[in-house]
This record gives sequence, C-alpha cells and structure tokens, in this order.
Amino acid sequence: MTKYRGTCHCGGVQFEIEGEFEEITVCDCSICQRKNARMLKVHESGFKLLAGEELLTDYQFNTHTAHHYFCKVCGIYPFHRKRTAPDSYGINVFCLEGFDQSGIPVRNSKGSTLS
Ligand SMILES: [Zn+2]
Repeated sequence: MTKYRGTCHCGGVQFEIEGEFEEITVCDCSICQRKNARMLKVHESGFKLLAGEELLTDYQFNTHTAHHYFCKVCGIYPFHRKRTAPDSYGINVFCLEGFDQSGIPVRNSKGSTLS
C-alpha cells in the first residue's frame, strides 16, 4: 500500500489516499476534458479528508450521481465521487505531493459514452 497526501492550490483542502495505484485514467467526458485531469481511483476506505470540508463546493450535472468537488477559494478540483463506482473517489494526480506518474500505464476511459 502506498500513501500520498494531496492539497488544492491554496492549501485549504487537504487529503490523504492509500492504496495500490496501478493505472491513471484519462476520461473523455465533458467535465474531465475541461479539467484536463488525470485520475487515480481509490476506494472510499483509502480516502481521508484532513481539512477543508467547508471549502469544498459540490458540482453535479447530468445524472447527478457523481460529485465533482472543487475548492471555492482557489478553484482547483482535487477529487470527485465517481459515477460508475459510487464507493470510490477519482483523485486528480496533479494535486498529490511527490506522486511520480512515470511507469504507470494510462487508460483512456470513455466517460462520454456512459453519460
Ligand atoms: Zn483551495
């Protein structure tokens, strides 16, 4: 198991994830394209929000299953609750401290065709 800490840009939102991270997902749905995010999937048992719950704004659209969280101070999107796997979080890898993307396979997810 590997552990990483993540933050938004202003540092108000802080979280920690733990798990086996074997792939990075790039999703082609309308919101992920605009965010240009690369995602790690982590089960909710491996996700801990350490600070900033009051700063998170929850954006929902379409089926209103997924929760897209972003920091209302700096506007950065650190993670979301997944629509296809509601017990898991999608984590924006660019928000993680010391996370090395090299050597981790990237999978293209067809989010656009699922919605
Ligand atoms: Zn922030």
